[in-house]
Amino acid sequence: MKHSVTLDKDKCKGCTTCIKHCPTEAIRVRRGIAHITEERCIDCGNCIRVCPHKAKKAVCDDFERLKEFEYNIALPAPSLYGQFRNLTDVNQVLTAFLHIGFDHVEEVARGAELVSSLTKYEMESDPNLPKPLISSACPAAVRLICQRFPKLIPNISKVSAPFEIVAILARKEAVERTGLSPEKIGVFFITPCPAKVSAGRNPAGLEAPVVDGFFAISDIYKRLINAMKTTEEPQKLAHSGLIGVGWAHCGGESNAVFQGQHLAVDGIDNIIEVLEDLEDGLLPQIDFLELNACNQGCVGGCLTVENPYVAQTRIKQLIQHMPISMNKVSLDPGPPVYMFDDKPLEALPVNVLDEDIEVAMQKYAQIEALVETLPGLDCGSCGAPTCKTLAEDIVQGLASEDDCIFRMRERMQYLMGMGDADEYLPLPFRRRDEEAEQAEQERNES
Ligand code: SF4
Ligand code: SF4
Repeated sequence: MKHSVTLDKDKCKGCTTCIKHCPTEAIRVRRGIAHITEERCIDCGNCIRVCPHKAKKAVCDDFERLKEFEYNIALPAPSLYGQFRNLTDVNQVLTAFLHIGFDHVEEVARGAELVSSLTKYEMESDPNLPKPLISSACPAAVRLICQRFPKLIPNISKVSAPFEIVAILARKEAVERTGLSPEKIGVFFITPCPAKVSAGRNPAGLEAPVVDGFFAISDIYKRLINAMKTTEEPQKLAHSGLIGVGWAHCGGESNAVFQGQHLAVDGIDNIIEVLEDLEDGLLPQIDFLELNACNQGCVGGCLTVENPYVAQTRIKQLIQHMPISMNKVSLDPGPPVYMFDDKPLEALPVNVLDEDIEVAMQKYAQIEALVETLPGLDCGSCGAPTCKTLAEDIVQGLASEDDCIFRMRERMQYLMGMGDADEYLPLPFRRRDEEAEQAEQERNES
C-alpha cells in the first residue's frame, strides 16, 4: 500500500498530539519523532488536521506532471464547488480548468450519478444482498472495515468509486475524440482528501489504477480563482445534476440512492460507533449505510480550503437550481462493468500477535498482565496512544517498560535508594498531594 499521508521528519517535534487522534492507533512517537505504521493507516487525514507543526502531509502530484501527456483531463470532485464564495454556476469553475493547462474537464459528479444508479440496481437485483448495503465511496471507511470489522466486508457495495468510473469513461471518450492512444492521455483527479489518493493509487476491485495523478483542492484552488477572475463567458461544460453534486456533503449519496431506510454517518469516531452497533446486530432496520470519514462528508476533507459547514451550505444553495440528474446507467445488456466482483475486498488484520495461535495466546495473556501493572492514564508520554498499546508494543519487542514515565519513577526510586523520585518528574506526573490541594482550595475560597 502506497500511502498518501506521510511525515515531514524535519518538522516533527515529537509532541505526541497526533497519536491521540489516530483512529487506528497507527502512530507512535519514538526518540522524539512520529512514526506511522503503514499497515494500520487508513489515510483518514486526522493527523494532518491536528498536527500543530504541520509535520503530517498528504503527498499528491506536482502540476508539472501535465507535461508528461499530450492531452490532459481534470476530474474535479463535487466538493470543489463548495470552496468558492458566491458561485452560482459550476461552469465558471469547469471553464477555469481549461485556462490552467487542462484540455478537457469531466465532473466526478457525473460518476456519482452513475454510481447512484448502479447502487439502486445492485440493491434491486440481488434479494440475498446482506443488509444494510454499505457505500464503498469513502476509501478511509472501507479500509477501516477491512481492518477492524471484517465480518461486514460482504455488506460493502461492489460498485467502483465515482472518480474511477468517470476516469474510465473520460479516457475512453478522449481516445474517440482525439485519436490519441490511451497512454498519451493524462487523467487527474482533483481530490478533497488523501484517502482517495491512496485508494486511486492502490485501487480496490480494479486490476490497475485508472487515474494518472492527483491534485489537492488546496493546491489548485488559487490557480482556479485567478483563472475564474479573467473568464468572461463560461463554457457549458456541466454534465451532472443535483444528485451528483449533492454527493459532496454527508447525506447526499443516500438521498440519491433513496431506497428504503438509510443512514448517513460522518466523522470517523461516529463511523466506528455505528459499525460496532451494526456488528452487534443493533441496526436491523437500515437498508443503506453511507459512511464519510470526514465531518460533513467530502467537503470536510483535509485537502479542502473552506470550513466544511460553510462549504456544505454553499453546495445546498448551488444545487437548488440544477436538474435532478443528467446521468443514468443503461441496464441493457447489463451494467456490472463498474462492479468489482473479480477482485473482492479482503480482510486486513492488523492486530495479529503471532501466526502461531498458541504463541499469540501467550502474548495476549502477557499483554493483559502488563496492562494491569500500568497506570491506565493513557497519557501518551510513552509515545503510544494508550497503556494497552504500550503493553502490546512491549510484548512485540517494540518498546520497553521504561518508556512509561511512572515505571521510570519506580526505577529511579530504586536506583536512588530510599529517596523519592517524584520531584524529578514533570508536575503532571507527580503523585497527588492532598495537603497542597487543601491549601490551594483554601486560598481560592479566601
Ligand atoms: S503532532 Fe505528531 S507529527 Fe506533529 S509534531 Fe507532534 S508528534 Fe510530530
Ligand atoms: S492518516 Fe489517519 S489512520 Fe493514518 S496515521 Fe494519520 S490519523 Fe492515523
